[in-house]
Amino acid sequence: MYDAIVVGVGSMGSSACYHLARRGARVLGLEQFDIPHALGSATGYSRMIRMAYYEHPDYVPLLRRAYELWRELERESGQSLLFETGGIYMGPPDGHVVRGAIAAAEHHGLAHEVLSHAGLADRFPQFRLPGHFAGVWEPRAGFLLPEKVIAAQAELALRAGAELHGREPVLDWDAGDAGAVVRTATGEYRAGRLLFCGGPWTGKIVRDLGVDLVVTRQVLGWVWPRVPARFALGTFPVWGIEAADGSLSYGFPMLADNPGLKVARHGRGTAADPDQVSRQSTPADEAEARDILARHLPDGDGPVLSLRVCMYTNSPDGQFIIDRHPAEPRVTVACGFSGHGFKFASVVGEVLADLVLSGKTAHPVDFLGLGRFR
Ligand SMILES: Cc1cc2nc3c(=O)[nH]c(=O)nc-3n(C[C@H](O)[C@H](O)[C@H](O)COP(=O)(O)OP(=O)(O)OC[C@H]3O[C@@H](n4cnc5c(N)ncnc54)[C@H](O)[C@@H]3O)c2cc1C
Repeated sequence: MYDAIVVGVGSMGSSACYHLARRGARVLGLEQFDIPHALGSATGYSRMIRMAYYEHPDYVPLLRRAYELWRELERESGQSLLFETGGIYMGPPDGHVVRGAIAAAEHHGLAHEVLSHAGLADRFPQFRLPGHFAGVWEPRAGFLLPEKVIAAQAELALRAGAELHGREPVLDWDAGDAGAVVRTATGEYRAGRLLFCGGPWTGKIVRDLGVDLVVTRQVLGWVWPRVPARFALGTFPVWGIEAADGSLSYGFPMLADNPGLKVARHGRGTAADPDQVSRQSTPADEAEARDILARHLPDGDGPVLSLRVCMYTNSPDGQFIIDRHPAEPRVTVACGFSGHGFKFASVVGEVLADLVLSGKTAHPVDFLGLGRFR
């Protein structure tokens, strides 16, 4: 009998296992693949973190705590996991990226600087931008190393007493007054509480959530730039550019462990079944990466080194879902991270441990509840 069973030991599940175990809870984490693995939402060596959150200013208090917890995870694991390179967000001055980033920064008193087109050209000559574009510079933005984060969270969870099983898919579950039970091919496990952190597979395992989660295929690309020195870590920041269709082209400085300059588009990819998604790249995938480089980063526009497929789990409004299951009081669900959740994994683990152990949290997460869809 466990206090809690966590289904899915990926970005959020490994963090929840860590936070639950360090509070002394008896935790079992069940993961269908390896811990970590490259088949879910967290592959690709880097994930952006930023605070001037144009998506919704209510995320900012959570981000403040996320930064603290990332530094704590670094101390406890003895690894460097978060790199504050600074971040530059660019687009039309009245577009949702620039306007939203300024609104979030002003509302929460975050350090930032607004740059004109001339200011951008002066500070960041790597970019080619339309003449009417402006930018917002945020010194505390940067990136996390997702595979290392998940490994560190899992290892610290294990050291704190959690039991984690890789390669053991949860096939079925029940929850009632007497407790919860999950079934796998190997056995049946019982717990007081169940926590689902299944990422793209949530819709397959969590019934009666009452919300449509749309899984999409998303592609990341790496190229060898024409002028590598211009994109080196220490010289080049994380960045995002609002595209005409409202999507965001974005990228990272070059990393020592993984060759190439990474670029991608944050927009809705093709809908996919997570068990059937095509992991083969297509000419269209390469063309998308090429288009970002040709338009905005001419010195980066070199040969492709890698293209990788990853998945978003999109909620109906693009905001996360963190709540009790509407019909099962013993069950908590964290899903629908809609392509921007990784930076929050540290604080989401803390929130989930609160919800699982006491049914409430002091963190401001009401805006992420299921009630907003009713
Ligand atoms: C291309 C791409 C780029 C991104 N860029 C950023 C970024 O720059 N910044 C940012 O903050 N976020 C970014 N994100 C989003 C972020 O990575 C995700 O929001 C986050 O990883 C979601 O975490 P998760 O725990 O929900 O899913 P996952 O990390 O995929 O974990 C879910 C886990 O559950 C397991 N599982 C599912 N069902 C079962 C079952 N039945 N039994 C056992 N195990 C099960 C899965 O195998 C998986 O390990 C990006 C995502 C993608 C795809």
